[in-house]
Amino acid sequence: MSAIVPAAPSHPVTLFDASPTYVMACRQLEAVAKAINLDAGITQRLMVPKRSQVVAVPIRLDSGEVKSFIGYRVQHSLTSGASKGGLRYAPHVDLGEVAALAMWMGWKCGIMNLPFSGAKGGIACDPAQLSAGEKERLTRRFTEEILNIIGPRVDVMAPDMGTDEQTMAWIYDTYSMKVGYACPEIVTGKPVELGGCVGRKEATGRGVVYCIREALDELKLRAVEATAVVQGFGNVGSVTCEELYQLGVKVIAIGDRYAAIKNPTGIDVPALVKYVADPKNVLHSIKGFPGADDLDPKELLGTPCTILVPAALERVITGENAGKLRCRILAEGANGPTTPDADAVLADSDVFVIPDILCNAGGVTVSYFEWVQDLQQFMWSEDQVNAQLKKLMLGAFHRVRTRARDRGMTNRMAALSLGVEKVATEKAKRGLYP
Ligand code: NAD
Repeated sequence: MSAIVPAAPSHPVTLFDASPTYVMACRQLEAVAKAINLDAGITQRLMVPKRSQVVAVPIRLDSGEVKSFIGYRVQHSLTSGASKGGLRYAPHVDLGEVAALAMWMGWKCGIMNLPFSGAKGGIACDPAQLSAGEKERLTRRFTEEILNIIGPRVDVMAPDMGTDEQTMAWIYDTYSMKVGYACPEIVTGKPVELGGCVGRKEATGRGVVYCIREALDELKLRAVEATAVVQGFGNVGSVTCEELYQLGVKVIAIGDRYAAIKNPTGIDVPALVKYVADPKNVLHSIKGFPGADDLDPKELLGTPCTILVPAALERVITGENAGKLRCRILAEGANGPTTPDADAVLADSDVFVIPDILCNAGGVTVSYFEWVQDLQQFMWSEDQVNAQLKKLMLGAFHRVRTRARDRGMTNRMAALSLGVEKVATEKAKRGLYP
């Protein structure tokens, strides 16, 4: 099988290169370009994001002190329609990481055949250390600072790590105040009361589990005999756990930023969801959950299981630990959890990889449904949303598997090549302006 083999970066050296995540995204694109014999000019245009904005975001903290944060918005391309992608609040966010995530969003929209280009944004901050008022001021000021490059037909944000429906509501309100009318189509992942889509909050986790079900079927494994380990218990991780629990899969270990827990007889996921949501649990962490024992977080990913779901950070599965995974299915809920070095190891193993740009595409797919509903001012039922989501996810899953089988590619290479090809074809057909 053709794996993504590590190679020295040959892409143009740019200001994004300080980020290992951006270098990783470029290495993936180089490998795809080689595998599908992509035109060199188009490859170069796809390697460097179309538009990036770095802004200072000063706010007054509750203490009265003024603090400046750094915010980023990167639009990988504007070729396939409005650019689309999440907004991330995390301490480690930098320009290169956001650029890599924007590139992956482009391939993801391509693989799902959505009329969007890729984008991503972020603010380097620790949301756990900010009050609700501070987060609101940060979000509103950031929106104001990037107002010149966003718009319902230009660039549409959505929640990602550290942001949620409330963050999107503040962006919606700030943008609407600026343009002078209510403009719900400026963001997706809003509260349903504000034109959000029913089922959007659950969409990414649901999509992950649709893919897992197809993989279990292909491997002739039964859900009720399967076990799962999940890293991350935020939006994606918690919904994935809930959906797996409903399928009868035993979730035996979970980790978050603060702790890891295990229960070999299966964690009571509904009880854990309640425990994490309890306002007394200030950090909203799994730490201290009475229905499980502590686990050393370093052991989480190597815990023997049927299904491993990284649903937190990028680059957690590396050349060093990939050989130590003891799972049959690796379902990538997070973006970029597996490095190209790890891919080379996994290509020679029997681990069935469901790559991120396919596995977690349920979120952007239902974001697309939300955008369409807001533009048309015509809302769908949750049954309609879920049926369409399932149809699009399964279609993409089988397109990837067919290509992987037909061309002897890994699932990741098949997925990336489908996504890249869609964007590259559009670029080639539109031509180069002027
Ligand atoms: P979130 O903020 O809701 O949750 C993040 C989770 O990761 C939390 O449980 C947090 O404690 C945990 N975490 C943070 N640092 C960690 C660490 N060092 N070790 C272990 N766990 C850690 O974020 P989310 O929206 O669930 O996003 C998670 C991942 O999924 C990200 O890679 C994101 O880009 C990706 N993603 C999200 C969506 C979406 O719709 N929200 C869609 C596609 C992909």
